[in-house]
Formats: sequence, C-alpha cells, structure tokens
Amino acid sequence: MKNISIAIDGPAGAGKSTVSRAVAERLGFVYIDTGAMYRAVGLAALNHGFDTTRAELIVPMLETTDVDIRHEAGGQKVFLNGEDITNKIRTPEVSVAASDVSAIPQVRLKLVELQRALAASRSVVMDGRDIGTYVLPNAEIKIFLTASPEERARRRFEELTQKGVKTDYESVRRDMEYRDANDSSREFAPLRPAEDSVTIDTTEITQEQSIDCIYNFIIEKIQGR
Ligand code: C5P
Repeated sequence: MKNISIAIDGPAGAGKSTVSRAVAERLGFVYIDTGAMYRAVGLAALNHGFDTTRAELIVPMLETTDVDIRHEAGGQKVFLNGEDITNKIRTPEVSVAASDVSAIPQVRLKLVELQRALAASRSVVMDGRDIGTYVLPNAEIKIFLTASPEERARRRFEELTQKGVKTDYESVRRDMEYRDANDSSREFAPLRPAEDSVTIDTTEITQEQSIDCIYNFIIEKIQGR
C-alpha cells in the first residue's frame, strides 16, 4: 500500500500533539512532532547563551547543531548532538526560543529536510505549523486544529502544572500570544490553514471527542479515495 501523510497544523495549545499521537497510534502510523525539532534548535541557542532572535548568531550555530529524531517504544525521542533532550525542551523558556529561531529561514530549511526525509518512507501523522502548506503540500489529509486563545492558554497551563513546571496562567497566556503572533507573521512558511485543509475548532469539545472526530474523518477519506 502507498504511504499516507496526514498533516495536522494549528496554533500553540490547540491539542495537536495529544490528538496526533493518539490518531497515529490507532492508525498504526508514525507520529512526528516537528515542534520538538524547533525546540531542539531553540535549546541549542539558549545553551550557547545567544539572543534567540539574532539570526547572525543562530545561522552559524546550525553547522554544529545536529538534531535527530528516533522512534522508540515510548514514542518520539529528540536528540541534540547525540544527547537525549526529550524532557528538557518542554519549558516555557524553550517554547519562546523555539518560536524565535523558527522565524529564521535557514533553521526552517534544515529542519524541513529532516521532516520530509522522515515522511518519505512511511505513513505518518505529522504536526506543526506549516506541514500542510509547505512541508508536505501533497499530504492526503490536512487538518487545521484550533481553539479559542483562552482555552488554549488554560490547557497549556494545566499541562505545564501537571508536569511540575512552576508558572501562572497570565505568563502562559502572554507567551502563547507572543508565539502566535511570531508564528503567523513570519515571512517564510507562516502559520495559516492550507487551502485544502479542514479546520476543527476544539474549544467546546473534549480531547477524546477531538480524537474520535479526526480519526473517523481520516478513515472516511482513506476509504473513499
Ligand atoms: O508545536 P510546539 O509548540 O512544540 O512548537 C514550538 C515552536 O516551534 C512553535 O511556537 C513554532 O514557532 C515552531 N514551529 C514551527 N513550525 C513547525 C512546528 C513548530 O515554526 N512545523
């Protein structure tokens, strides 16, 4: 059977990663979290003590920045120059750094190459900001997942609190607004729904309902094609 690509894009906190992971598992596809790759580059810049908005510092750094993704039984693992950084990249500081470095075209080109290579040889559910518009324009199914800014901030705050990250709702909301504005306004591959995508607003529905809705939609599309 031909490999199938499913693109799930949307703003921060819309529930993309949870939904994509669950849907991929049900379909027997590989889940690829592209945000983790931008987070890896963001972390590399922070490790160097760089201002993450300064392309003249970040671009030369890319030559010595090796980002790798491996799929193991526990899910996707992210490596930065051979070090497993999967658990280090979920902090608010790294979120903002990831958004900053993601506006630099050279960063995107490097990571897009890796993303396309990962999708070339298997069926994937890939989530991010530009998967349907830029990374995999021929993806069979494109979904744009969104929710109100208040609800997205509330979900992200809960998620961080559960992970033991000390923060407050207002700063989570502020970081999210910053990232949304950054991600939507950058020139190269900004966040926006692909023309042939289906938008799903999850503000009023539970995570389980989102997963069922998207899974059923995919199955219908795959069977009807
Ligand atoms: O998805 P996540 O919140 O982990 O992504 C972190 C940041 O990486 C986003 O705010 C965005 O700036 C960037 N990103 C991107 N393109 C992608 C995935 C993530 O620009 N495909």
